[in-house]
Parts: sequence; C-alpha cells; structure tokens
Amino acid sequence: MNGNGQGNGNDGSCPVMTTADGRPIGRQQAMTAGPRGPLLMQDVELLEQMQHFNRERIPERVVHAKGSGAFGTFTVTRDISEHTKADLLGKVGKKTDIVMRFSTVAGERGAADAERDVRGFSIKFYTDEGNWDMVGNNTPVFFVRDPYKFANFIHTQKRDPKTNLRDMDMQWDFWSQSPESLHQVTILFSDRGRPVGYRHINGYGSHTYSFINDRGERVWCKFHFKTDQGIKNLMDDEGDTLIGANRESSQQDLFDAIEKGDFPSWTMKVQLMTQAQADGFEKSTGWNPFDLTKVWPHAEFPLIEVGKVELNRNPDNYHAEIEQASFSPSAFVPGIGPSPDKMLQARLMSYADAHRHRVGNNYQQLPVNKPKCPVMHYQRDGQMATADSYKAMTANYYPNTRDAMPKPAEKFHDPAWDLGSAIVDRFDSENDHDDFTQAGNLYRMFDDAERDRLATRIAGVLGQARDQVQMLQLCHFFRADEDYGKRVATKLGFDLNELMERMGAVTT
Ligand code: NDP
Repeated sequence: MNGNGQGNGNDGSCPVMTTADGRPIGRQQAMTAGPRGPLLMQDVELLEQMQHFNRERIPERVVHAKGSGAFGTFTVTRDISEHTKADLLGKVGKKTDIVMRFSTVAGERGAADAERDVRGFSIKFYTDEGNWDMVGNNTPVFFVRDPYKFANFIHTQKRDPKTNLRDMDMQWDFWSQSPESLHQVTILFSDRGRPVGYRHINGYGSHTYSFINDRGERVWCKFHFKTDQGIKNLMDDEGDTLIGANRESSQQDLFDAIEKGDFPSWTMKVQLMTQAQADGFEKSTGWNPFDLTKVWPHAEFPLIEVGKVELNRNPDNYHAEIEQASFSPSAFVPGIGPSPDKMLQARLMSYADAHRHRVGNNYQQLPVNKPKCPVMHYQRDGQMATADSYKAMTANYYPNTRDAMPKPAEKFHDPAWDLGSAIVDRFDSENDHDDFTQAGNLYRMFDDAERDRLATRIAGVLGQARDQVQMLQLCHFFRADEDYGKRVATKLGFDLNELMERMGAVTT
C-alpha cells in the first residue's frame, strides 16, 4: 500500500484507480446536479479524462504512417574494422540492442497491411557511441533522385485534393514525366510489391553511405539486410482475400511470431566502393554511384556479410515504443557518414524535422529514442524536456571554464571532404541519364510468368490514366526492354503496329 492507501496489485488485489496526478478515485461516474444532470465543472476527474482523450493522437507520419515494430539485437559475425571504425561493427560477437519499425508507405494509419506498396525498413542501433539509424526500404532504389521531386511524388501517391480518392492518372502522369522512376516502378509492380508480411522482406539502406576507418580513410558503402525467413509474396487474389479477412496481417504475423519465440532475423551485408572505383564505375557505366535510382551490380561489388539482426521482444506499448519511435538518417555514429547522394542529403534534414513536429522538440529524450550511452550537449528546454537528460550539467553554454563539462574530442573529427572546384548550380536531374538499362536488367531477370503478371498489374492501373500518359509511359517500357513495352501495350489493348507509328510521333 502507498500513502494514498493504494495497492500495487502485487498481492492479487487490484490497485486503486487514480487521476493522472495520482489522487485516488472513489467512483467513476459523472458528477451531476441531480440524477438527470446537468454536469458540474468541478468534476475534474471527468474533465481530465476527456481533455486527455482529445489529445491522444499525435500527427500521423505523412508517409510510412502504418507500421509495426519490435526490439532485438544485432550481432557482428565478421570484423570489417579495416573499413570502418564504427564501434558497433568492431568485433565479432559484439551485440547491440536495436528497435526496428516496418511500414507501408502511401496508406494512412488505418490502411490494410497487405496492399501493393513499398515497405519501410528501419533499424535504430543503440550503440555505445550514440544511436545509428538505418532508415531504408525493402527496395534497393527509389522513384526519384532529386529531392525537389519528393513532395510532389508523394502527393501523387496520396489523395486527389478534390475527389479525396487515390488517382491512377495522377500517379502515372508523374511517373511518365519522371523516367528515373521506372526501375522502382518495375519493382513495385513485380511480385515483390506485395509481401506476405514484414518477416519476409529484405531491407536496403538504398542510399550510398560512407565508412571511415581509424586511419581516416573513406570508402562508399551500401547496406543490405537479407531476410532469413525467405522472400514470400502474395499473388493479387491472395492479397485481396487476405485484406478482406485481416487488415492487420503484417502486424499480426510479426507480433505472433515473436510472441511464440519464432524470432525473425536478417543477415546484414555491405557493398564497398573506393573513390577510384566510383570514378571508374561512372566512366564505364554512365551511372552515378550516388544516384538513388541505381544499384551497384553484385558481380562488380560483391556483398560482404557483417552481422545478424534478430527481433526477440514485442513492445509493451505500441504508441510509446513504436508510434513514437523516431528514425532519422542523420543519426550517424563515428565511422559511418553520408555520401553526396542528393536524396540522402535532403533526408538528413527532413526526418529529424518531421519528428520535432510529430513527437516534439525533445523526441530523443523519450525512452525508445534515447541513446543508451551518455548524452552530453548544451541544447536545452522546449516541450517535455526531462531534467534527467541534463543531470549534473551545470552550464547550458559552451565554451565555459567550469569543471567536468563536456568538450569536443578531436579524435572524433572526420577527415575533410575534397569536393575539387565544385560549381554551385541547379543541375539537370532529368535528362542525359540512363534510366532504362537497370530497369531492363531487372525485367530480364523475371521468368515469363512474372513478366506476364507484372504487365497485367501495370495495365490494370495504367489503363485508368489518360491516353497521352499511357503513350509516354509505354515509351519508357519499350526503352527498358522491347518485350516489356509490347506486353504492357498488348494488355492495354493497343494494336502494336498502330502503336509504333503513334510512339514515333510521341518520341520525336
Ligand atoms: P545480380 O543478378 O547479381 O542481382 C540480382 C538481384 O536481384 C538478386 O541478387 C536479388 O537481390 C534480386 N532479385 C532476385 N530476384 C528478384 C525478383 N524477382 N525481383 C526483384 N529482385 C530480385 O545482378 P545485378 O546486381 O546486376 O542487378 C540486376 C538487377 O537486379 C538490378 O537492376 C536490380 O533491379 C536488381 N537488384 C539488384 C540489387 C543489387 O544491389 N545489385 C539488389 C536487389 C535487386 P536480393 O538478394 O537483394 O533480393
């Protein structure tokens, strides 16, 4: 019993209900003037409950709103310290706690899990040198390479402002005007566009990042997480049936597997590229190694296994630990850093900014986001700041002459970045790029049946767009692979001879 006469329930009795201020509650019935009402303003217990209820929701993520997550560990299986001084990757057998969040992208928080969509794949590593957030997708590439296009692209995936409906003409209009999207569009409409659940997807950091070793040498790297459960996808009829039966199929699958001790895992691998290789790659292929719409071919840049990610604990409270989990690509640790990838550079700002809006300026002080190592800075105050975070720090300014106050340490300074004689401009991110070879390579990997399913799905939605949009988009498919173009065109009901004549007019 505490001072208020409240039991804690440990003795089998129920604890006494209290207000949020901790005052025990006698009855939970509205206080009224007479049995029929009206209510009284002095019923502060009821007022508190109603006011809190009105504030239960935080802003939904603009993208990746519907998600699931869990806690686990990352274990190093191969020493790659010659490439990075990242403490979490330093020694075989080293374990680091993690939280992971998976999501769909376009749907709102109530959307069904089994929709055709890209899946978000994020991991927060609570390392001894700060949190490292790997904020990726289940696809190795993305739809656009210039961040100016991002908000516009997302608008096309959401609802039309007038009809409040998803709009296929809007989606394909944008994609047909953005041929760099073809690679990701091909993945989206392939079998992998509708996974059985989160346990059965690969994760990719997608962007190029940098590794820095303790000699101050930088190499470029890409992160891959291969599912140990195997890739499993839903055919369209299976997906539709599943949504009819269970809108939370991925949440259910992940939660139930962990609850019964069937812990899902992923093997982490990296691809590495030196600056000299990057220069050579661009010369020989024409592909910018920092272009988010491109992969690095495995044959030239083989995957190197580095560790294992395992999920083994469900959250106790979904809202506190998963909805408020805030992942940002800007959360780097010593030994891991950015690359010039323009999309990554934009995300370095926008994710942390979104969390400040969505969760609050001090989102990193919430238990799920809080680093497990000491946090020592001179940022102060703002909504929901906890004194716990600043503890014995007597100064809120730097430099200072006070004892035992945090100071920067030169050994954590990253080597300088030589940008040569860079010219500042708004460079063309649309023309003079080969946006078709890699999309074609992917298409040519599919067997005949998957090519056919891909073309059927695309025609089903592209057929809802205007004729002009269909023509432009068909040109992109033909450029990637003639068979790709012909299949989609046939499914759309075009006469191929007539189409060739019309396409000549579109492309000239
Ligand atoms: P590879 O043949 O070495 O790699 C092909 C990779 O594609 C596989 O390793 C597998 O990667 C993935 N894959 C296999 N089947 C499918 C499928 N049905 N749908 C989607 N992806 C599949 O050739 P390249 O490295 O030259 O890549 C060729 C094409 O493969 C690329 O244009 C790209 O579209 C796709 N790809 C390439 C990746 C890369 O990092 N190089 C990664 C994923 C896809 P995984 O084991 O990661 O699933």
